[in-house]
Amino acid sequence: MNAIVTPIKSEILVVIGNGMVGHHCVEQLIERGALARYQVHVYGEERQRAYDRVHLSEYFAGKDAEALALGDAGLYARHGVHLHLGEAVLEIDRERREVVTATGRQPYDRLVLATGSYPFVPPIPGAEGRSRLVYRTLDDLDGIREAAASARRGVVVGGGLLGLEAANALKSLGLEAHVVEFAPRLMPVQLDADGGAALRARIEALGVGVHLSRATQEIVVGEEYAYRMQFNDGEFLETDLIVFSAGIRPQDALGRAAGLEVAPRGGVVIDNDCRTSDPAIFAIGECASWNGSVFGLVAPGYSMARNLAALLAGQPHEPFTGADMSTKLKLLGVDVGSIGDAHAATPAHAATASSTKPAPATGAWWSPPMASTCWARCWWGTTATTTPCCNTPRTASSCRRSPRA
Ligand SMILES: Cc1cc2nc3c(=O)[nH]c(=O)nc-3n(C[C@H](O)[C@H](O)[C@H](O)COP(=O)(O)OP(=O)(O)OC[C@H]3O[C@@H](n4cnc5c(N)ncnc54)[C@H](O)[C@@H]3O)c2cc1C
Repeated sequence: MNAIVTPIKSEILVVIGNGMVGHHCVEQLIERGALARYQVHVYGEERQRAYDRVHLSEYFAGKDAEALALGDAGLYARHGVHLHLGEAVLEIDRERREVVTATGRQPYDRLVLATGSYPFVPPIPGAEGRSRLVYRTLDDLDGIREAAASARRGVVVGGGLLGLEAANALKSLGLEAHVVEFAPRLMPVQLDADGGAALRARIEALGVGVHLSRATQEIVVGEEYAYRMQFNDGEFLETDLIVFSAGIRPQDALGRAAGLEVAPRGGVVIDNDCRTSDPAIFAIGECASWNGSVFGLVAPGYSMARNLAALLAGQPHEPFTGADMSTKLKLLGVDVGSIGDAHAATPAHAATASSTKPAPATGAWWSPPMASTCWARCWWGTTATTTPCCNTPRTASSCRRSPRA
């Protein structure tokens, strides 16, 4: 008679964070057969199982939490992964190799931090409740929806990629939407002055108010609307709700408190194997700082997750060596592409700026053949110029032959 052999799971692996990257890591561990070796416990602070945060805005277009969820509902149970939802890890006890939650302690042999980021809200007097909303989780969106139900006007603080997406969401909820940006242009990280001006025109044409070079000093009770945002230049804007989209910060509090090395600008420091300063602890996704950088995008996190899962499975693995940081604005009717060094800040671009007319920072707009509203900034004098424009090799002159303003 054949005996049934149950594999002995010799090690306990704890994953903190059931967001996009933590989930991808678990999927990869399953795929690579690592579950034969590890008993896996996943802790997620949010109530919902991992969901597609990149497409969070679709929640306002009718998708529910289940439609946004990643992987099928039975995946973890089928593979014996213990999922603890709505249970935040409060502390890492490195000496005893245990994580502490409100319900008890869980020992680990290896620990993966995948705690993501949290939205940064500048300390503005008067920002609280409906004048201090953020745009990161399903619960945040429930809060915005609830506030919007009795509102006429909504303001987003921050004119970056996420801020514009949030403004679009406010519009979709039937509000008059405004964006307040500290910098003198929209998407200041990706666009130069000309690009910012073109984008502003498009955004205003969509019916979104744009207020640039404005720093909110105080939020007080409004006269026509619930709140009045008092700006540094003496002007003001009234609104019924305020969503802050002023950047994110790596959620590194657990690692910091446990004495792991943390980068000066935040994020748990990792090496090319995603290993922290404690060899038993790894960090992936937006909570990790590699080579001084924190990646606020999902693709680098997925690549860390894949590499780490291979390492944990004892398989050949690639070192993490950085990532493609290309980004896309997801706003109805306006596709914006920014490639190359948008501010001509690197030495190569700076040299080109001084030797080429017109300078890269004032390069040409062009429209790729397949999209009437897709623009890309093309740089010349560098390899970035001639290769990546919609996969069609273009030189400065061919870009300039098809300008679009
Ligand atoms: C509206 C929106 C649009 C976006 N669009 C894009 C896009 O177009 N392209 C792109 O590349 N990226 C985009 N992003 C960013 C992308 O979502 C993130 O890069 C990605 O989610 C990072 O994954 P992560 O697992 O590191 O963090 P997260 O997905 O944030 O997951 C971290 C999880 O850990 C949990 N957690 C934190 N602390 C604890 C604790 N102590 N105990 C237990 N659990 C904990 C958190 O609650 C969270 O669920 C967008 C983000 C938002 C909000």
